[in-house]
Amino acid sequence: MGKAHSQCISIVISINTVLRRFGLLCVHAKILRLNKAGLPVSWLTREETATLLVKEQVIWSLGEPVMELRGGINRDGIRSMLRLPSIVACDGKVHKGSFDPPLENKFLFRRDKNICLYCGGEYPWQDLSRDHVIPVSKGGSDSWTNVVTSCRRCNNRKADRTPEQANMELIAVPFVPNQYEFLYLTNHAVLADQMEFLSARFSRNIRLIQ
Ligand SMILES: [Zn+2]
Repeated sequence: MGKAHSQCISIVISINTVLRRFGLLCVHAKILRLNKAGLPVSWLTREETATLLVKEQVIWSLGEPVMELRGGINRDGIRSMLRLPSIVACDGKVHKGSFDPPLENKFLFRRDKNICLYCGGEYPWQDLSRDHVIPVSKGGSDSWTNVVTSCRRCNNRKADRTPEQANMELIAVPFVPNQYEFLYLTNHAVLADQMEFLSARFSRNIRLIQ
């Protein structure tokens, strides 16, 4: 076990060296990590994926190889090759319970496609803000279903009022992204086969695919 473990570590180190030598750690493409039940859980760097593959923690994979890594030459004179797939399912605990995506402005704005849900205008993120549909001062919560992307002008105009009081109608209903949608919202460089996998489970709410 100890020997196998040390071999494992030396392979990982040589992969890291290869990755660094070719400057590939800076490449932005990410690998989609699924749990063994097939649910998407996070995005991995290529380095993290290589480590999981070498440690044999990947139980199955999908998608086109993102990259091929050449390893060292073994005692039979054969050079090892590691293919990094775009989607990997990993062994480990499956956390049960409801999915609770963190509410951050960068994900909220992407959910709403950088569009102000009051005037319908598309804005750069610097000009956007988080509006509470029912204002917090009136008992509204800071949750996905009570927040929308709003331009600063509309947010100021609406002020501390409900949409009805301000006579400002919402152009879409705010929703909680599901696990598939949330993974999409957190990566700006989703590859085609990853998108195919994720979008198969998108809800009707998300009609904002770029
Ligand atoms: Zn607006």
